Amino acid sequence: MFTTIPDNQTTGQEAWRTEARCASGDGTLAATFFSEELQDIAAAKRICAECPVMADCLEGALERYEPYGVWGGQLFLNGKVLTNKRRRGRPPKIARPEDDFPLIPVPERLVSLLRTA
Ligand code: SF4
Repeated sequence: MFTTIPDNQTTGQEAWRTEARCASGDGTLAATFFSEELQDIAAAKRICAECPVMADCLEGALERYEPYGVWGGQLFLNGKVLTNKRRRGRPPKIARPEDDFPLIPVPERLVSLLRTA
């Protein structure tokens, strides 16, 4: 089974990953969860928003200082959570709705672990 969570970073304590909504079984979602494109990042966050193991996933990503990708509904870069990301180049005069990230709340028990950029 494929998940965005690398096998070499899982332990018996991460058995929850079998319930991961990103477990497509064929690896097709990896490009979405590790994309630079804003619409892909937004799509990954929407998948996470309905994932039953989002809090466990986010906790693991925070503990591992994930270097990159969408984990637990949040976008990571160098172990920190990015609340926003801009498209390359000059910002458009008219905002593109597809570039807006869904706002995924961080579970209360994980707020103290949060590092933002
Ligand atoms: S929260 Fe997102 S990245 Fe984590 S297991 Fe669920 S779908 Fe996958």
